Amino acid sequence: MYIVQIASECAPAIKAGGLGDVVYGLSQELEQRGHVVELVLPMYDNMRYDHIWGLHEAYRDLWVPWYDGAMHTSVFCGWIHGRLCFFIRPHSDENLFERGIYYGAPDDWKRFAFFSKAALEFLQQTNKRPDVIHCHDWQTGLVPVLLYEIYKWHGMADQRVCYTIHNFAHQGITSAEVLRATGLNNDEYYFAPDRLADNQYQGALNLMKGGIVYANHVNTVSPHHAWEARFSEVGCGLQPTLDTHHYKFGGILNGVDCEFWNPETDRYLLHPYNVATFERKAKNKFALQEHLLLAHDRPGHEKPLVCYIGRLDRQKGVHLVHHAIYYSLQRQAQFVLLGSATEAGIHQWFWHEKNHLNENPDCHLELGFNEELAHLIYAGADIIVVPSNYEPCGLTQTIGLRYGTVPVVRGVGGLLNTVFDYDYDEARLPQERNGFVFYQTDAPALESALGRALDLWFADREAFTNLAIAGMNYDYSWHNPGNQYEGVYEHIRHK
Ligand code: ADP
Repeated sequence: MYIVQIASECAPAIKAGGLGDVVYGLSQELEQRGHVVELVLPMYDNMRYDHIWGLHEAYRDLWVPWYDGAMHTSVFCGWIHGRLCFFIRPHSDENLFERGIYYGAPDDWKRFAFFSKAALEFLQQTNKRPDVIHCHDWQTGLVPVLLYEIYKWHGMADQRVCYTIHNFAHQGITSAEVLRATGLNNDEYYFAPDRLADNQYQGALNLMKGGIVYANHVNTVSPHHAWEARFSEVGCGLQPTLDTHHYKFGGILNGVDCEFWNPETDRYLLHPYNVATFERKAKNKFALQEHLLLAHDRPGHEKPLVCYIGRLDRQKGVHLVHHAIYYSLQRQAQFVLLGSATEAGIHQWFWHEKNHLNENPDCHLELGFNEELAHLIYAGADIIVVPSNYEPCGLTQTIGLRYGTVPVVRGVGGLLNTVFDYDYDEARLPQERNGFVFYQTDAPALESALGRALDLWFADREAFTNLAIAGMNYDYSWHNPGNQYEGVYEHIRHK
């Protein structure tokens, strides 16, 4: 098959979160299966150019219809670690992608509406006719709308669209101006409740809803999150739309890049290990303690090391992260946190805690983004906590499992599809259980699960090690998700 992914991120050159990882990982998997995959991305000024090879201007004069005229645009071509990418670069006074940011501008709707339009115009003018166009999140929700309302009439009637939602919290809610900008124009038609009218805000259009209504297949990034989005407030107002289109909606769990996240070959680790050499993990714990100036274990006085890695924001359950620090210390464990806050108030809160705990030999809080340290922590910790309020898929628990670091998670979204409780998951065989799960959002709930993990570590180290090894034995690669996306593509291309 010939597949074109139209997306606002592709790791590692353009990464704000899990979306970038998925676009890269899935493209790589599909190529390894023999499909032809190309990516269309915005040409941001702040992307990591050092991760792009052979960048050159491939199309100089792409005129993209825009408002009443056309926008002069260039398309650059290059490879992000082997993936063939086309970068859209408009020559506009508004500098749509030259702002030093990926997201967060007041006119984001315009930036990504233009990107969606330009991506299709590029395919149309260069005679690229993929079997499947795969687009992602609100930024490209207009792609299937434009395809079926405009480009179908310009030689693109056979193209089919798979639309993946990574985060329902951002939907691209905007005004009728987007219709004039992109040439859709007909307000009355698109403001219909079964087309793009927002389900909550009267007079507003919803680009993610457009993606759901018009795409041939829609999915989110785990089966449980798909259920939550359709039946609970996690759908952020899109529940009725998902319900109407339930026959084409599902969940496919993300994979992880098993080359990059592999304790056996991890370039950042001084002491690589695998299941057979699991005892070497202790050397990584020692190295981490040394690196962060934490106390070393003394014979007879060993301490488990609990960690948190991830963004510090409301989605991630920051209050429970905070509670986990003090609970772990109180239970004679060590705690390491690596996180970057998205709000000033949360940053100040954890900054204050960092200063407060600075002298504590059992605790280290690192604020900011640090890839290398993340690897050292995954390898050195015994337990990783992921107490999210909601989690479409979640990567940190899965990476933790790869590194034999036992996850303690809240039972939501993809966390529920990847972590199976050691004591209570009766649907799983004992050897399939790999962590600890709690459900409520309060401190006692977290303590109930983290407490059980710590109890096991202190009381029965062999059982704890077997649990960690059970997690390492799972297949969380892109193999299974690749199969499922392939199945979806096959299904829609014959419709
Ligand atoms: P998100 O909601 O942010 O996409 P995920 O769990 O899906 O959360 O993915 C988080 C990814 O970002 C993981 O690869 C994790 O290791 C990495 N990460 C998150 N915060 C940091 C940080 N402060 N430093 C280094 N890596 C981080």
